[in-house]
Amino acid sequence: MAVLWLDEISAGDLEKVGGKGASLGELTGAGLPVPPGFVVTAGTYRSFIEEAEIDDELFDAVDVDVDDSSALAEAADRAQELILETPFPDELREEILESYAEIGDGEAFVAVRSSATAEDLPDASFAGQQDTYLNVTEENLLNRVRECWASLFTQRAIYYRQEQGFDHSVVNIAVVVQQMVDAEKSGVMFTSHPSTGDPTMIIEAAWGLGEAVVSGAVSPDNYIISREDGDVDVTVAEKKVMHEKDEETGQTVEREVPEDKRTERVLSEDEIEQLVELGERVENHYDQPQDVEWAIVEGEVFMLQSRPITTIDESSGEAAATGATIDVSESVTDGSGSAQAQAARGDKPSSDSASGEVLVDGLGSSPGTVSGAAQIVRKLDDLEKVGEGDIIVTEMTMPDMVPAMKRAAGIITDEGGMTSHAAIVSRELGVPAIVGTTNATTVLEDGQIVTLDGDKGAVLDGETVEPEEETEPVEEVRPQAPVKPMTATEVKVNVSIPEAAERAAATGADGVGLLRTEHMILSLNQTPEKFIEENGEDAYIKELIEGIRGVADEFYPRPVRVRTLDAPTDEFRQLEGGSDEPKEHNPMLGYRGIRRSLDRPDVFAHELEAFRRLYEMGYDNVEIMLPLVNDAEDVYRAKALMKDAGIDPEKRKWGAMIETPAAALSVEEMAEAGIDFASFGTNDLTQYTLAVDRNNENVADRFDELHPSVLRLIGDVIETCREHDVATSICGQAGSKPEMVQFLVNEGVSSISANIDAVRDVQHEVKRTEQKLVLDSVR
Ligand code: PEP
Ligand code: MG
Repeated sequence: MAVLWLDEISAGDLEKVGGKGASLGELTGAGLPVPPGFVVTAGTYRSFIEEAEIDDELFDAVDVDVDDSSALAEAADRAQELILETPFPDELREEILESYAEIGDGEAFVAVRSSATAEDLPDASFAGQQDTYLNVTEENLLNRVRECWASLFTQRAIYYRQEQGFDHSVVNIAVVVQQMVDAEKSGVMFTSHPSTGDPTMIIEAAWGLGEAVVSGAVSPDNYIISREDGDVDVTVAEKKVMHEKDEETGQTVEREVPEDKRTERVLSEDEIEQLVELGERVENHYDQPQDVEWAIVEGEVFMLQSRPITTIDESSGEAAATGATIDVSESVTDGSGSAQAQAARGDKPSSDSASGEVLVDGLGSSPGTVSGAAQIVRKLDDLEKVGEGDIIVTEMTMPDMVPAMKRAAGIITDEGGMTSHAAIVSRELGVPAIVGTTNATTVLEDGQIVTLDGDKGAVLDGETVEPEEETEPVEEVRPQAPVKPMTATEVKVNVSIPEAAERAAATGADGVGLLRTEHMILSLNQTPEKFIEENGEDAYIKELIEGIRGVADEFYPRPVRVRTLDAPTDEFRQLEGGSDEPKEHNPMLGYRGIRRSLDRPDVFAHELEAFRRLYEMGYDNVEIMLPLVNDAEDVYRAKALMKDAGIDPEKRKWGAMIETPAAALSVEEMAEAGIDFASFGTNDLTQYTLAVDRNNENVADRFDELHPSVLRLIGDVIETCREHDVATSICGQAGSKPEMVQFLVNEGVSSISANIDAVRDVQHEVKRTEQKLVLDSVR
C-alpha cells in the first residue's frame, strides 16, 4: 500500500506517515472533525527512489562541502532534478489518483503537505522545507507530491543536515493529501494558557484561510475564555488582509478585507462554544494542553492540526505567581518598566544588588551584577590576559575583542553611549556592561577586584557577588522558554552579532526587526574593498551569506530584516585597508549607509548578490532594509540596483529606515516607490533631529528619543504609512523603553523591535497598552 487513509493511522505510525500525518490520523481516529485525506507514506518515497535506482546518485550528489555556496547550489539542483524528472511507476500513479478520486466529489481541491518523519527533532528545518501546496487538483497532484519529496533537498535542508551531522540517506518524507476546507474564518486555539497551563483557552481568529493567521500576515481577533466560569474576554483587531482561494486560478491569494468587515468580530458566541468543546475533547484525548489550528465553513468547525503546547513553563515562578489570571504582565514589570529598561533610559534605579565604594560610574548598558578581577586592555595583545570571569576595562571595545568579551564576566569602557559597539555586543552576549565612564582605564588597576553593577551603571570596590551568581556567558545561557503574551503589535528583536542569534530566537520574538551587517564585516578586520582585493568577491559574498544565514535559520520562518551595510568611515578606519577611507570632519554626517552603497554600486552589488543567493536557497524569511535614506530618490535608486542584481522587489519584502527628518518628511513618496515597511532608527533620528551627536558624552543628557519633535515625526510617519498600507516598526534603542512602546502602540505601529534582554518586558508593555486601548474604546 503506497497510501494510508487518515482513519487507518494512529500516533504510533510516525515513522510511516511523519509527524503531520500521524497527528491527523490520531485525531481522525478520535472522532474529531478532521477533513478527509490520505498519506503517501515515507516508505513510498523510499521505494520510489530505490526502484528508479536514483538513490545512490541522489546521496552522492548532496555529499558536498556545504560551505562552498556554488557547490551547494549545484548539489541541490541536481538532487531535485533527479526526483522531479523521474516518472511515477504506473501502479503508484494509479493508486494515488484513485485515492484522490475518493475524496469529496472526485474533483476536490486538496492540500498537499510534506510530513517529515524527523519533524519533531529540535530543528524542523532538518527535515526539509516543509512544503505545502494549497488548492491542488488532479491535474497537478502527482507533481506536487514529487515536489514535496524534492523539498528534502533544498540548499537549506542539505546544509542543515550536513552541519548537524545527519546522514542524508536515512531521512524520509511522507506526503499528506487532504481535502481543503474553504474556510470563511479560521485561526488557532490554545486549549490551556500557553505559559502557565491555567484552564484558560485562547482563540485567535481571522477571516479566510488560516495561513494568514499562522504566517502573521494579519492581526487576528483574540478571545480569552475562562474554563472555570466561561467568561469570555474579546479583543477585536483590525484585520486588513485575508487569504482565500481565487475562483479563477484556484490559487490562494491575499486580498484586502472589505472595509465593513475589518473591525467586525469574527466569532459568534455559538462558534466559541463549539471551539471550546472541541478544544476540551482534543485536550482530553491527548491528556495534554494542545495548540490547535481550526477552520469554520458554513457554520461547521474543522480541526486542521493539533500539537502539544511546548511552552508551558512549569518551573517559572514568574508565571506561577500570577495564579489563574491570563496576563502575567502585572507581576513581571511595574509601571515604570524593568531595571533594564530604566538603565536603557539612563536612569539609576535604586537597588541593593551591590553596595560598596563607587569607584567609577557610567551608563549601565547591559544589566546584571558581577564581581571579578579588572583587566585593563589598552591594545589587542592585552586580550590574552583576560580569563574566564575577569572584567574587561578598555577605552572602547572593538570587533576583535568579541571572543574575549564572551569569556569575560563584565565589560567597562571609558567611551561610548548606549548604541556603541561595547553596549550592543555585551547586551547581545548577555554580559553585564557599563560604557562611557570616561576614566575607568585610569582609575581601575590590573587585577583589582571590583563589582560591576550593569543596572546602576556603577563600579564598586571589592567583591560583593559570589562567582556562582554571575551572569553566565552566552554559550551557557539557558534559553528562556518562548512564553509570550499574545499581542496584535508584533514584538521583534534586534541582532547585531550572529553569535547572539540563538539567544535572540529563544526570546520568542516574532522575528528580527534589525540585523546589522556591520559587525559581520568589522569582524573580518578588513574593509570590504580590502577583503575583496585579497580574497575575491565570492569570499566576501560568502561571508555575508554565512552571517545572515545563521540568523535566518535560527528564526525560520519568522522574518529577519537584514540591513544593508551602514558603517561610518571612522569605524572602518581601524580596519586593514582603513587608511583608504575618506577623512571626514563629521563621519555621522558623512559617507555611510545608502549614500555609500549608491556611490559604490560595485561593492553594494555583492551585498545584493548575497541576498539573491539566500532567496535562491529558500530563505524567504529574509527582508532587505535600507539605512540612512533621505528621500524617494534614494529608494528608487536602491530598488533599481536590487532589480539589476536579480532580486524582484515585487516578490520580496523590503523597506527603508527612517533615520533623518528628511526621510520622515518624504515617507509618502517612499511608499509610492514601493517600500513594504518603514522602520524608525531612533538612534539616528534623534541625533539628526536634535543635532545631538549620539556618541558625545558632553551632550548625552540632551539625547532624548522622547523629545516632542522626534515623537511628532514618528507619529506623522505612522499615520502616512497606515494610509498607504506600509508597515511601520522601530529598531532603534528606544524601542526597548516603556514610554516609547506606549507611544508607538497608541499611534498604531505594526511592530516593535527590542534588545534581546528587553523583549520580554516589551511584550508585556505592548500587551498592557493594547488592553488599555481596548478598554478605553468601550468605556
Ligand atoms: C538607529 O539609528 O536607530 C539604528 C537602529 O541604526 P544604528 O544604531 O545602527 O545607526
Ligand atoms: Mg542608524
